[in-house]
Amino acid sequence: MAKTKKTLEDLRNENEDLRLRLREAEETLDAIRNGEIDAVVATSPDGNEQVYTLNGADRAYRLLFETMNEGAAMIGADGTVYFCNTTLAKMLRSPLENLIGSNLYSFAKEQDVPILRKLINDTLAEPQKREFQFKTGNHFTVPVLVSSVPVKLATSPFSLDGSVSVCMIISDLTERKKAEADLQQTFDELTRSNEDLEEFAYIASHDLQEPLRNISTCLQILEKDYKSKLDSDADQLIQYALDAVPRMKALMSDLLSYSRINRKGAPFVQTDCEKVLEKTLLNLGPSIEETKAKVTHDPLPKLSVDPTQMMQVFQNLISNAIKFRGDNAPRVHISSTNAGEDWVFSVKDNGIGIEPRYLEKIFALFQRLHTKTSYEGTGVGLAIVKKIIERHRGQIWAESEPGKGSTFCFTIPTLESNR
Ligand code: ADP
Repeated sequence: MAKTKKTLEDLRNENEDLRLRLREAEETLDAIRNGEIDAVVATSPDGNEQVYTLNGADRAYRLLFETMNEGAAMIGADGTVYFCNTTLAKMLRSPLENLIGSNLYSFAKEQDVPILRKLINDTLAEPQKREFQFKTGNHFTVPVLVSSVPVKLATSPFSLDGSVSVCMIISDLTERKKAEADLQQTFDELTRSNEDLEEFAYIASHDLQEPLRNISTCLQILEKDYKSKLDSDADQLIQYALDAVPRMKALMSDLLSYSRINRKGAPFVQTDCEKVLEKTLLNLGPSIEETKAKVTHDPLPKLSVDPTQMMQVFQNLISNAIKFRGDNAPRVHISSTNAGEDWVFSVKDNGIGIEPRYLEKIFALFQRLHTKTSYEGTGVGLAIVKKIIERHRGQIWAESEPGKGSTFCFTIPTLESNR
């Protein structure tokens, strides 16, 4: 019998019919994936119809798997992707249908394949959490965090032989990595600018000492040879200039110490802070005696620090506590408490105190609140202390009430690994 030839109209109708069925099939698949269907009826080739139920609990899990904002996949021990969700497909810039059934190794750069293989193998023994980089469909790489656990689904189509598969949750780290890179860049720029400033402060304070010495010598000659030979105004001007020299020397010398904290700091060694304090108190002996100050302290710990710098910290804080005393004889107490990862030190006095609005400002270079001549100083001491504490990865702050004394607190990390 001759075959009936299909007309163009027949072919069009057939094509339309096929398109419709395909759309229906896609919608059904989407509905299954989105958990909108509880049961499906499948007709086998012999014409028998069978009902497959997708019961309630499964549906919730399916929804979770499909709608979660992290990539998720079930991987065979050989790297075959048995199943994965759309988030992973989007992350890898690859259509879902291409991903399922492909091998995960094909999404790793050649040199990273052994790393991924190790990750999958290690997971077969126990859960793993590692960072990795996948190649994407558009030839970029995506940094990810892979959290993987071994699963044994005896009755699952994913492991028909009961062998172990790997369940992976894959988080896209692109944003986090970018933020980390930005932070690192800012940190590098700040470090560079800090180094430049230190260099500048070092050169300024070091190289200006020589001309200052010359000025000082000339002024002394001027005073010796011309005092009373010029008029009284000239004598006074020479005296002003002479008075300014030691102050400028002190400023430059403090600035030099400040610029040396990082460049010339010694390595950290296990140090008995109590011994450091004893030495400091010996140095401060004359001023303690002169002011009848009473300095007491708690037992202090042994810590990994730069001992000379630690002494500078105690010396600056205690001498300030004595310098900014009130009407009564100074009482200074140094204490230390262990707060887990840090030791918190405090230097408490009964002095004139500080107004709350200045409590942060005083740690800046050249900041002085009490510029009366009775309180000599350059305004560099607390800036030096702050810089030393920061070199030790600690923090410093002050608590005070005018007229009721001040407490300067600082922390030093206990663990060397913190550095
Ligand atoms: P300096 O002591 O040379 O003036 P510092 O940097 O050591 O400089 O201190 C900055 C300012 O902070 C001081 O001028 C003073 O006004 C204030 N200050 C510091 N320590 C104390 C204290 N223990 N009590 C009151 N004020 C203080």
